[in-house]
Amino acid sequence: MTGLLAVLRKYIGKKNMELISEISKPGRKGYSLPAHDVPKVEISMEFRRKTAAALPEISEPQIMRHFVNLSALNHHIDKDFYPLGSCTMKYNPKINEEAARIPGFAHIHPFQPEETVQGALQLMYECGESLRKIVNLDAITLQPAAGAQGEFTAISMFRAHFNKKSESRTYILVPDSAHGTNPASVNFSGFKPLTLPSNEHGLVNVDKLKELMTYDVAGLMLTNPNTLGLFEKNVKLINDIVHAKGGLIYLDGANMNALLGISQPGMLGFDAVHFNLHKTFSTPHGGGGPGAGPVAVTKTLAPFLPVPIIVKEEKYKLKYDMPDSIGKVQSFYGNFLVIVRAYTFLRMVGEQGLSQISKSAILNANYIIQSLKDDYFLQYPGFCMHEGVLSCKRLKNIGIRTLDVAKRLLDFGMHAPTVYFPLIVSEALMIEPTDSESKETLDRFITVMKRIRKEADENPDILKTAPHNTPVRRMDEVKAIKELKLTWNQ
Ligand SMILES: *Cc1c(COP(=O)(O)O)cnc(C)c1O
Repeated sequence: MTGLLAVLRKYIGKKNMELISEISKPGRKGYSLPAHDVPKVEISMEFRRKTAAALPEISEPQIMRHFVNLSALNHHIDKDFYPLGSCTMKYNPKINEEAARIPGFAHIHPFQPEETVQGALQLMYECGESLRKIVNLDAITLQPAAGAQGEFTAISMFRAHFNKKSESRTYILVPDSAHGTNPASVNFSGFKPLTLPSNEHGLVNVDKLKELMTYDVAGLMLTNPNTLGLFEKNVKLINDIVHAKGGLIYLDGANMNALLGISQPGMLGFDAVHFNLHKTFSTPHGGGGPGAGPVAVTKTLAPFLPVPIIVKEEKYKLKYDMPDSIGKVQSFYGNFLVIVRAYTFLRMVGEQGLSQISKSAILNANYIIQSLKDDYFLQYPGFCMHEGVLSCKRLKNIGIRTLDVAKRLLDFGMHAPTVYFPLIVSEALMIEPTDSESKETLDRFITVMKRIRKEADENPDILKTAPHNTPVRRMDEVKAIKELKLTWNQ
């Protein structure tokens, strides 16, 4: 017995749980149906299996308990705190799920004629309009399936814009604190990334920007607040410098949770911005997808949007007649049910509630960072926005690394923060509590973090061998990535 099964087995043994195939008893059933009242028909041998499928035979309560217990082995936001920086793991209200399961949304087909799906188109149109107004830009596409694909979409539109003007430019500037998807999107769109260094305050080095911003640079990808959780105070100046050379500016909007109802990217001079609906507007994303990464743009870039866009005339329509469009970036119209969830969230919060989200997120982050900065280390002092980055570098001389602290946190039932990102902070611990957590939860996290700091001095081995209470102990993360085992019996 190898791989995942062995791992599961180890834990299941510990918890006194059995594999589902082991609970199975011949003839046991999870359903009861009334007796036949129609003649029995034998299926021809030709269509039958040679041997019966090895399906477990168990009762309904057994199957429920089995899967409920399995679901609780992993961490998730409904279980406890999940302060994974940059990822905005906020609580996802269950009303979103109710809306996404309404048959009129869940059971429609993307090939249905427009006139039979007017409600769906209206929802998409209105969701797009709400998002567009939040950032104060002119047009929007809901098609990209994630933030990274939103980046790719927008930078491809930058390319189309310069092609239309018969200008050939080579580079896109990307700050050294940026998320890894930024340089990847630049490459995918046919440009080359050019690294823009940060200054001693963790912000864009404006002098360096002036030097690097030439007519060979198509634009800049800025994250604001940046990945250190710091607001780029010189954002207007930065955008003016790029525009003065005919460049375009992209806002990586993954950190929109800090800006809602407070700051509008369109007013600050951004030409394009993506949203991560699964982050800011609460679609579950702990397990990967599906997500959505709508992109809002200025009038100048609007003709290049992916087709179709949704327009409101007498009826809602899908508009394909856009000769300068970059084409489609995703099958059909994007991840529709994620848009239903985001729309529900937006409507529940209301326009008035938007700024409250960001204010709470900012307050929560500062409460944690200020409470822990003396125990750990804050490389860029001062207040942060919706997330903050501590460092464990002071623990290095006693042989403790950030990874050890992160793993020890798991023993207390909380997910670890993001580690070793952004790259410009050594031994980084990036904490994003989000707006949805209570002060009691924040206090519990702070208490645990202080306790771990004390343990580092008094009992470092407990950190080095952590986690102790999780289904599986410390993983070989390199091996896990290099030798993927995706089935149970490999
Ligand atoms: C999450 C994130 C992205 C990428 O978004 P995905 O939806 O995961 O593709 C890009 N930039 C930043 C700063 C992010 O936090």
